[in-house]
Amino acid sequence: MKNILIVGGAGYIGSHAVVNLQESGYNCIVLDNLSEGYRDAVKCDHFVQGDINDTNVLNYVFQSYDISTVMHFSAYINVGESVVDPQKYYKNNVQSTLNLLSAMVDNKVKNFIFSSTCAIFGNPQYLPLDEDHPQAPINPYGMSKFMVEKILEDYSKAYNLKYVALRYFNAAGAHPTVRIGENHRIETHLIPLVLKTLTGERKDIKIFGTDYDTPDGTCVRDYIHVCDLAEAHKNAIELLDAGNESYQINLGTGVGHSVKEIIAACEEVTGMRVPVVNAPRRAGDPASLVATSGGLAKRLLNFNPKFIDIRETIRTAWDWERNKEY
Ligand code: UDP
Repeated sequence: MKNILIVGGAGYIGSHAVVNLQESGYNCIVLDNLSEGYRDAVKCDHFVQGDINDTNVLNYVFQSYDISTVMHFSAYINVGESVVDPQKYYKNNVQSTLNLLSAMVDNKVKNFIFSSTCAIFGNPQYLPLDEDHPQAPINPYGMSKFMVEKILEDYSKAYNLKYVALRYFNAAGAHPTVRIGENHRIETHLIPLVLKTLTGERKDIKIFGTDYDTPDGTCVRDYIHVCDLAEAHKNAIELLDAGNESYQINLGTGVGHSVKEIIAACEEVTGMRVPVVNAPRRAGDPASLVATSGGLAKRLLNFNPKFIDIRETIRTAWDWERNKEY
């Protein structure tokens, strides 16, 4: 049985990856400092509470377990916050990742799966976004991920490291059967915020910008179910195991939804009316981000998202929002 180290496995996407890997027969070792994640999100015997800035912890993990692949989910993810506090993003998303990579090189661990983002593309020059689209991030969050992708290109040439950088579009939804889901300590994401207005946790939802160059004036994003993302990670392990190449792969559904469409879909799923307030644009937001469907992800990862209808994705998020276990 292969040992996979999941860094940030107590977080939103990481916890779904752990469940998927366990169901597929992998042995998961989770390393998480629980600054953002939840211990209750991880049902796994091998849990280490620690920080990737701590080389002793990393050496302990690599020397205790024969790790075949590292998945790295631990990062700060809020675009708006990254504009206000870029240092936090460069320190956590770049510096900590360098520390993790150094420990991998020292301990001769060769396979790395990195959580990258469509934010590395900046303002799209064309849509949908394929892997060849020029990269010009317009916020520090995207820049921090772009920098790691560049570091990985150099490390893979110099240190015999193989990697897959998975550029997620907007992760959404929750596990339909296992009780895990999205629960950020400070929530900034659209779908959970809309749903929180319906549970009464928030007063209203602000639409950040209604004058974008999009069909209804609000930003368009490609919302991909977190379980489909998890499946792609497992397939990325197999891709790395099968060859000697490294890859950068976009992961979206190929379908875009505007902020207004998401709100309408939430109303349809819940049968409730969402209180909406128009607000100014949020710094660092491109108008539209939508992935190509059937590109590299399909060819290399056999990627076939199961959640195509955004209402199905929202339904899983709504189930979780009303019955959270942590
Ligand atoms: N958004 C919004 N109101 C909110 C939160 C988000 O209008 O309270 C918009 C945001 O400007 C973006 C889209 O919803 O266009 C998705 O934002 P989110 O923060 O969920 O993900 P991101 O695209 O930043 O990764």
